Amino acid sequence: MKTALSTLEMRRATSVAEALEILRDEPRMPIAGATDVYVGLNFGTLPELRYLDIWALDELRTITVNEDVLVLGALATYTMMVASALVQERLPMMIEAARQVGGPQIQNRGTIGGNIANGSPAGDSLPVLAACDAVVVLQSAGAERRVKFTEFYTGYRKTVMRRDELVVAVEVPRVSGRQWFRKVGTRAAQAISKVVVAGVRGEGARIAVGSIAPTVIRLTATERALATGSLDEAMVALRGEVNPIDDIRSTADYRKRVTENLVRRFWTETA
Ligand SMILES: Cc1cc2nc3c(=O)[nH]c(=O)nc-3n(C[C@H](O)[C@H](O)[C@H](O)COP(=O)(O)OP(=O)(O)OC[C@H]3O[C@@H](n4cnc5c(N)ncnc54)[C@H](O)[C@@H]3O)c2cc1C
Repeated sequence: MKTALSTLEMRRATSVAEALEILRDEPRMPIAGATDVYVGLNFGTLPELRYLDIWALDELRTITVNEDVLVLGALATYTMMVASALVQERLPMMIEAARQVGGPQIQNRGTIGGNIANGSPAGDSLPVLAACDAVVVLQSAGAERRVKFTEFYTGYRKTVMRRDELVVAVEVPRVSGRQWFRKVGTRAAQAISKVVVAGVRGEGARIAVGSIAPTVIRLTATERALATGSLDEAMVALRGEVNPIDDIRSTADYRKRVTENLVRRFWTETA
C-alpha cells in the first residue's frame, strides 16, 4: 500500500557540512534524485519516516579529473555523465550504461550516488565501477574514508556505509584497455537488467556482472583463465563461479546462458 506522504518528515540540507551534521544527530534516509525512493514509497516498502533531501548540494554535482583519477560527484546524473567530455574520454562504458538507464526523465534525476547507495544488484552503473576498480568516497561529520568498490557491498542491498555517512563521490583510476558494456533486459528502454556486463581488456581482462547474484560480482576465475588466452577454459571457469537465481525478471538458466554469451562476445569483440 502507498505510503501516506503526510506521515513523513523531510529536511532539506543546503551544504554537505549541514547534511552530515543532520545525519550525525538523527537517523534519516537521504534522498537524491528520488527515483528509487519514490518507487519504495509508492509500494509502501520503505519503513523510513524521516528523510533528508540532498538534491540542492551542488558541491556533489561535479565531474572532474584529479591527479589522473576521474571523480564523479555523488549527484552527477546520467544525463550529466552522457554529456561529459571527461567521461566520454576516460570511461566510455559508463556512457553506454547511462544511456540505457530508464528513459530521459530517469536519466535527468537519477544519480550515480543513488545507484551505488541503493545497491540493487541490477544497478547498471555498478558493473562498470566494479570492472574499473573504482573507489567509493564516504563522508561523515568530521571524517572521510575510501572503500574499494568491490568491497562496498556485503549482501543483497547491504553495504559498509553507516547511517551517518553519505556517498560523496566515486573515484575511477585511469583505465587502460578496451572498454565494453552490454545490458540485456526485456526491451530497449525502461527495462531493469536481466544480465548486465562491463569489461576491460588490457593486459588481461577485468569483467563484472550485475543482476545474477545478490551483489554485483567480479568474475575473478574467468579473468584468470582469460589471462592465459583460452576462451574455452574461461567458459569452464565461468560455469564454476556463476550461480544465478530465478526471480520475477528471469530464470537462472537463462541468466547463465546469457552471461556466457556476453563474456564470449566481450572477448571476441575486444580482440
Ligand atoms: C522508471 C524507472 C526506471 C529505472 N531504470 C533503471 C535502469 O535502467 N538502470 C538502473 O540502474 N536503475 C534504474 N532505475 C533506478 C534508479 O533510477 C537509479 O538507481 C538511480 O541512479 C537512483 O538515483 P537517485 O538519485 O534517484 O536515488 P534516490 O532514489 O534518491 O536514492 C536511492 C537510495 O540511495 C540512497 N542515497 C542516494 N544518494 C545517496 C548519497 N549520496 N549517499 C548515501 N545514500 C544515498 C537513498 O537513501 C536511497 O536509499 C530506474 C528507476 C525508475 C523509477
